[in-house]
Amino acid sequence: EAVVNRIAAGEVVQRPSAAVKELVENSLDAGSTSVSVSVSVKDGGLKLILVSDNGHGIRYEDLPILCERHTTSKLSAFEDLQTIKSMGFRGEALASMTYVGHVTVMTITEGQLHGYRVSYKDGVMENDPKPCAAVENLFYNMIARRKTLLNSNDDYSKIVDLVSRFAIHHINVSFSCRKCALGKECFHMAPAELMFTQMLHVQGWMLLDLSMMNDPSRSVFKMDGYISNANYISKKTTMVLFINDRLVECNALKRAIEVVYAATLPKASKPFVYMSIALPPEHVDVNMHPTKREVSLLNQESLVETIQSAVETMLMNCNT
Ligand code: ADP
Ligand code: MG
Repeated sequence: EAVVNRIAAGEVVQRPSAAVKELVENSLDAGSTSVSVSVSVKDGGLKLILVSDNGHGIRYEDLPILCERHTTSKLSAFEDLQTIKSMGFRGEALASMTYVGHVTVMTITEGQLHGYRVSYKDGVMENDPKPCAAVENLFYNMIARRKTLLNSNDDYSKIVDLVSRFAIHHINVSFSCRKCALGKECFHMAPAELMFTQMLHVQGWMLLDLSMMNDPSRSVFKMDGYISNANYISKKTTMVLFINDRLVECNALKRAIEVVYAATLPKASKPFVYMSIALPPEHVDVNMHPTKREVSLLNQESLVETIQSAVETMLMNCNT
């Protein structure tokens, strides 16, 4: 059984950035307003991922089963059943991580005098929760990877990119992201907002507001976001897409937008696009594999076309 689980887990947590995505989503689900990601490297490999947040924490009585497969606190209410539809498989992430690395959780909930620290391996709690001092509401998660990862620089830039995407969408949450040498002082700090804050404000790119294309009478979806205009020059498309507040990818939409940019803007710059789309949950495919960020949508073709023509109109307007 453990072998099967390990293989399945390897799929869910293929790369460190995939683990970070799950951990950050948990932090956000717990109502955090501050989330910090810290990775430690040693001998060129990524040894530790630490995510801490100021969310509601985990109750003492939930700790023993926390890392068992399909343990989730997010399935009880009807509302949550609605949510699950947009999020795919639930209660897999923490369990999976315990099969590919060590997971330590440190948590305190409101009204408690002290927090608890627990470690998990292969889905089970390794020790009884140990009381620990906790000066603030704290949750953290550590994964010491068993295998050294190929290229920690590449992994770290993926993590910064990921956290930046969350930062762009969750404007009320403060994110931070840093890299440390294990046992040494941090040698690199990168506030996650940096990359995109620069994009949005410092470098003076004009960004177009997509909110005006919402037509409540006609469409089932609501959309917000920004797209780059001709002042933005990049060789690479950046597409930050949230559907029902979940970070996803949609290649069909990405390609459709690239086509419009290539046709509309004189200098063939690749676009920078941030879109937040709200759809009825039943329009988002539930049978999505947990590893796949690629989303599949009901009436995808017409939805993509609608967005494509809206983007085209906006680009043409700003060109004239
Ligand atoms: P899911 O998020 O799908 O419920 P996970 O395996 O990611 O499954 O997490 C399992 C459970 O652990 C969550 O439902 C939640 O109750 C709890 N949990 C995980 N991370 C946090 C966190 N940062 N703060 C509070 N609770 C958490
Ligand atoms: Mg989760």
